Amino acid sequence: MTHLFQDDAQETFGLALGHRVRVEYGTSKRLLASVRKEQGGTCSHVELHAVFRHAPAEIVQALTCWLVTGTLSDGLRAWADDELRKFVRSRTRVACRTEGEHNLSDVADRVLKLHFRKQFSDAPAMTWGQRSRPGWKTIRLGSYDSAGHLVRVHPALDQPSVPVRFVEFVVFHELLHALIEPEGGVAHPPAFRIREREHPDYRWATTWLSGHVRGLIESGWKVAPSVHGLASQCTLFPQ
Ligand SMILES: [Zn+2]
Repeated sequence: MTHLFQDDAQETFGLALGHRVRVEYGTSKRLLASVRKEQGGTCSHVELHAVFRHAPAEIVQALTCWLVTGTLSDGLRAWADDELRKFVRSRTRVACRTEGEHNLSDVADRVLKLHFRKQFSDAPAMTWGQRSRPGWKTIRLGSYDSAGHLVRVHPALDQPSVPVRFVEFVVFHELLHALIEPEGGVAHPPAFRIREREHPDYRWATTWLSGHVRGLIESGWKVAPSVHGLASQCTLFPQ
C-alpha cells in the first residue's frame, strides 16, 4: 500500500510531466481528479479526491499515466468509483437512524431474506429520512442513494397506523433500485416493473397507499425532523 502524501505526489507527477506540479486534495464527491495549467503553463495544478491519499502503487502509476497521456484506465476508474463509494458510505452511515415504531433494520433483514436471498453481498444501509417541506402536496415514501449505498424511508411511515407490511414493501422497492439501475433516464425500467409486480404484496400495497396517501402527505410535514434529506432518485408509484 502506497500513501500518496502531498509532497510525494508533487514529486512523482512533476518528474513525469517535466514541470512543477501543485497537488491539492478535496472531498467533493463530484470531483475525483482534475488538472489544469497555471502560471503561464509552467505549473500544473492537480486536484485529487482524498481517497487517492491511500492509493496502491499501481493506481499511482495509472494516475501518473492519466496526467501524461490523458487516458484514464479502466482499472483506475473502477478503483476510484469503489473507493469513493466506500468514502461516502463511511460518512453517511454515522448518522443513520433505524429505530422507531417500526425498526428499519429488522424490516430490511426480513425483506432481504424473503425476497432477495443472496443477491446482495453488501446490502445498502437504511435510515429514516427527513420530513416533507410544509405544504407539500406529494410525498416521497422512499429513495435509494447510489453514491451512499443508502435507502431512506420517509418518517411518515414510522407510525402505528402504517402496517409494517407496507413499510416492508417500500423497503423492497428501494432495495430493488440498488439492484436494477435506471435505463436511459428511466428510474423504473421494464425489468424493474416486472420484478416489482412479482412481489406478493404489490396489489395490496398499491391499494393501501391509494386509501391512505392523503393522510401520509399531511403527516409528512408534521413528523419529527430527522437527520437526512431525501435523495431525488425515485418516487414510489408515480402516477
Ligand atoms: Zn422507485
